[in-house]
Amino acid sequence: MARYIDPHIHMVSRTTDDYKRMALAGCALVSEPAFWAGFDRSGVEGFRDYFRQLTDFEGKRSRSYGIAHYTWLCINAKEAENIELSREVIAMIPEFLESSTVLGIGEIGLNKNTKNESTVFLEHLELAAKTDELILIHTPHLADKYQGSRMILDMIKGDRRISPHRVCIDHVEEHTIGLALDAGHWVGMTLYPITKCTPQRAADMVEKYGTDRIMVNSAGDWGHSDPLAVPEFIFEMKKRGHSDSDIQKVVFENPLTFFRQCRRFDWSPNQD
Ligand SMILES: [Zn+2]
Repeated sequence: MARYIDPHIHMVSRTTDDYKRMALAGCALVSEPAFWAGFDRSGVEGFRDYFRQLTDFEGKRSRSYGIAHYTWLCINAKEAENIELSREVIAMIPEFLESSTVLGIGEIGLNKNTKNESTVFLEHLELAAKTDELILIHTPHLADKYQGSRMILDMIKGDRRISPHRVCIDHVEEHTIGLALDAGHWVGMTLYPITKCTPQRAADMVEKYGTDRIMVNSAGDWGHSDPLAVPEFIFEMKKRGHSDSDIQKVVFENPLTFFRQCRRFDWSPNQD
């Protein structure tokens, strides 16, 4: 069975049954960005506990199903209107940056493209640049996506310390994928049952843009989402007659190549 990586999934919101079904479908590794809990956390200690869960407990839960677990840390754009809290969280992140399963800063980005969101985004970029961390970017939904993606790409470009190939722009769609690839970044296509991208549209984009610097993910979370979305993409690609090596590149080798730029990442496909 082909193995795959889900480079963006919020496993703290998923059940152990999901881990089992993912393991049966060939999932070898997940990477879990920090995100919004569905409600605003009341203070910095809530984030400290969340980061402990991401860097410790969730990895143990994942490993018991034979799936390696890596993570990213930040305060989500949805909570960035509270600048004071955002600054407290950003100041706390370095406590966790030497955890062996932390891949970098993410998913940071914009939600409604506001001034406060931009301020907090830039302060995350500053931390990532100073500590030489990889960056995972959340781009906004639907109507705000194009403008928000442009704003994000401009802010990244404005910091010359950040190498484009150390940044992944996630949730790209047909009208934003070209912008991100042209800027030298990696991209993630999110396969969602309703919004974002379907497995068919993702396969179309691979056919148009090729297999370099492209990944697919489920972004499974506490909302309507499918933790087996990556296998759905594999199924669609096979149905269209794509080679196993092209499919493996997108769903396995590409995320590994991106993650290997993190100095702490030492997972190898043969180790478990
Ligand atoms: Zn997410």
